[in-house]
Amino acid sequence: MSGVLVCLESRTGELSRISREAIAAGAALATSLNTTLDLALVGPSTDPGFQSLGGATVHAIFALEHPLLAQYTADAYTAACAQLIARVQPDYVLFPHTYQVRDFAPKLATRLGRVLLGDVTAIHVESGTVTFTRQLFQGKLNGIYRAQSPAPCLVSVQAGAFRAEAPQPTTATIEVFRPEIAADSVRAIPGDPFRAAAQTVDLASASILVSVGRGIKDQANIPLVQELATALGAELAASRPICDAGWLPMERQVGSSGQTVAPKLYLAVGISGAIQHLVGMKASQCIVAINKDEHAPIFEVADYGIVGDLFEVIPALTAAVRKARA
Ligand SMILES: Cc1cc2nc3c(=O)[nH]c(=O)nc-3n(C[C@H](O)[C@H](O)[C@H](O)COP(=O)(O)OP(=O)(O)OC[C@H]3O[C@@H](n4cnc5c(N)ncnc54)[C@H](O)[C@@H]3O)c2cc1C
Repeated sequence: MSGVLVCLESRTGELSRISREAIAAGAALATSLNTTLDLALVGPSTDPGFQSLGGATVHAIFALEHPLLAQYTADAYTAACAQLIARVQPDYVLFPHTYQVRDFAPKLATRLGRVLLGDVTAIHVESGTVTFTRQLFQGKLNGIYRAQSPAPCLVSVQAGAFRAEAPQPTTATIEVFRPEIAADSVRAIPGDPFRAAAQTVDLASASILVSVGRGIKDQANIPLVQELATALGAELAASRPICDAGWLPMERQVGSSGQTVAPKLYLAVGISGAIQHLVGMKASQCIVAINKDEHAPIFEVADYGIVGDLFEVIPALTAAVRKARA
């Protein structure tokens, strides 16, 4: 028994970014353990871009095919994954921590009689011992976990915790794996898949984001940050309370129930840094936080921090950017 297996998710024909992040986590783990990395795509595989998955480190790619996998159900996905795991016999099985995985992975772990470590933010390997970091109490504490039960250990990785690699060609073989799934074992009748409202703002592709939080105090003050965003050529984003209050549209929300972003520059203005916000932006290349509370958790992920009143800092910053660009 050996190796790392990463189970991927493709809902629109393309792999989600969090699936690519799971590949990056799996590749790093496999490299540290000097073992193999296999990938599996469960469900409709119209165009998963198999040939550009994971690069040279990938050993094998499994396409799990069965008519009952065409639409997601926890019963069918659990059966399919359990059979693949029995076939591959990996030490570690990684998943992206998506809603779908949250639904079926605990069931899968129970069926296998194994441990599931959910929402993992870091993986460390020291002298062959693997530890996993999970956040507790809304991100106030980190818990370090080591699996002691027999392999495989099931792990789901948090969105934004691992940096997705750019697609790279692979020469790994693609193997169609056809699990046996009895029709009467699937108890749920799938409805139409959930479709998020069409987004007119694609925060994920913006290279600079100015993101505003409750520190802005009033909707009437939003133009202050909009001016900075315009000066920087940035898109405006927000924490959830701003969108909940209707001060900015929902499509500008960053976080676990909003968009996941990874721009070159993320400017967090008056945002405390709650875990639900951090998961949506902490993969940003450079994070600058402006907050009057020097103990605000946002400073823990910030590359640069300005402790100060945003109503003084933002106009000065906007003026400096305009001057530099003039
Ligand atoms: C299931 C669930 C899902 C969620 N999903 C999301 C999500 O997707 N995205 C999200 O953002 N949140 C989400 N949340 C909410 C999240 O827990 C936090 O409540 C939210 O992120 C806090 O937003 P905030 O930082 O803007 O506000 P606050 O936590 O109120 O922070 C405001 C910050 O502004 C600072 N400040 C105040 N005045 C000034 C000033 N004059 N100058 C400078 N700084 C100032 C304060 O020091 C403080 O740190 C979710 C919560 C739950 C339970």
